[in-house]
Amino acid sequence: MTQQDILTITNLSKSYGNKEILKGIDLHISGGEIIGYIGPNGAGKSTTIKIIMGIEGEYTGEIKLFGENIEQNPIQYKRRIGYVPEIADVYDNLTGYEYLTFIGQLYGLDLLMAANKSKTLMELFGVGEAYHARISSYSKGMRQKLLIISSLLHNPDLLFLDEPINGLDANSVMIFKEILSQLAAQGKTIFYSSHLMDVVEKISSRIILLYDGKVAADGTFAQLQADNTAGTLEGIFNQLTGFHNYKEIGEQFVSVVQEVK
Ligand code: ADP
Ligand code: MG
Repeated sequence: MTQQDILTITNLSKSYGNKEILKGIDLHISGGEIIGYIGPNGAGKSTTIKIIMGIEGEYTGEIKLFGENIEQNPIQYKRRIGYVPEIADVYDNLTGYEYLTFIGQLYGLDLLMAANKSKTLMELFGVGEAYHARISSYSKGMRQKLLIISSLLHNPDLLFLDEPINGLDANSVMIFKEILSQLAAQGKTIFYSSHLMDVVEKISSRIILLYDGKVAADGTFAQLQADNTAGTLEGIFNQLTGFHNYKEIGEQFVSVVQEVK
């Protein structure tokens, strides 16, 4: 393995029942890349990440992280990875302090270090006053910030973000984008999965479009623009997924809404 070998996926396939979700995905990701992993709802983005995280099994193909097959060394590689899940079960009864220091210690930080880091990161993200409040009282955006902080406490080399800006307001999104570019500048690798194009378009050094279970496009934003006539990532997305009838669907939707009997 070279130092640059961060993630290699070979012929990854996954079905739920007789429904094929992933139909042979090949990807090679090197250090320092910010990958925008995009695709329509239900394309299999979260499934891909959950397989890599070892949460979802029964796939075919091979996944190597840092040069090692994830099945051969299922615990060790996790120390170098951070993960913000799309849907997370946080322990609601804990306070931010309790949750973050618990997670920090799971990753090998001592209590004092975990507490200091957590408090400062909460403050920087504008939620310092909630540090000792129960998570059950947090808004959606505050929970999301908690998840982002908990994924970063152990300073991972590789970060998987699944719809990470869910619930964040515009200012927080700006802070978050800056955090990601600073992390990338430090040589961290970021795998950012989202169906929302605007942030992906701005931050990704490489965009991978998942469609119909396969990689339908893979390249820099400029390369995708050169291969497609649409100018925005949203337009390219629509072209590659063959989606043009949003107007008709919107009209029909509202006409059904207006039905009275
Ligand atoms: P995305 O993140 O791209 O929106 P997902 O990876 O969440 O898509 O889901 C891909 C497809 O797999 C969807 O059709 C979803 O309904 C299906 N799916 C996801 N998890 C399960 C599961 N545990 N059992 C059955 N089907 C599932
Ligand atoms: Mg998803």
